[in-house]
Amino acid sequence: MTKAAVSRYLDGIRASEPELIAEVERLLEKSRTTPVGDGFIDIITPADNIESFLESMTNLGIAINVVTLWCDCTPNNKDRYGCPHGFGGPRYESGYYSEMCERDPFDVAKSYPDLIADDAAPEDLVNKYNAAVREYVETGIKSRPEYSPCLVPGFWLVVPKAWKRQSYQSRIAAH
Ligand SMILES: [Zn+2]
Repeated sequence: MTKAAVSRYLDGIRASEPELIAEVERLLEKSRTTPVGDGFIDIITPADNIESFLESMTNLGIAINVVTLWCDCTPNNKDRYGCPHGFGGPRYESGYYSEMCERDPFDVAKSYPDLIADDAAPEDLVNKYNAAVREYVETGIKSRPEYSPCLVPGFWLVVPKAWKRQSYQSRIAAH
């Protein structure tokens, strides 16, 4: 079994490095996200900025394929919802994000064509992927066994694996 040597989606993204990396990082900062690690997976996004963040990624042509869950552990949420609901996690100005470690994170590729290998127009695939992610975050999440109003998403951006963040929180590389 050989994998397609060319990926229309990834080729398109690679064609505009490094400007695209800089732009993605600008948007990570604008949405006050907390990225875990030094790349572009587990981009923890505050509840108020989810919609604008998803829209900005779609406009840039960046797909999201996996969503992990994080409990937004703030003093307020502790009182209201009994946080934390998960394990440790990265700090931010209002508290920290507690890692839920759910066994089956939402994965768009389970129900849609493989973004990397598919021959369809990348734009169409990005729209499909991000619409599925949006629907999960808005409604699907509520039927999860671990659901609590404190949960926020960690978005996994589909970008070349070698990409590392250059500026935004690039020194905070660990939990
Ligand atoms: Zn919680």
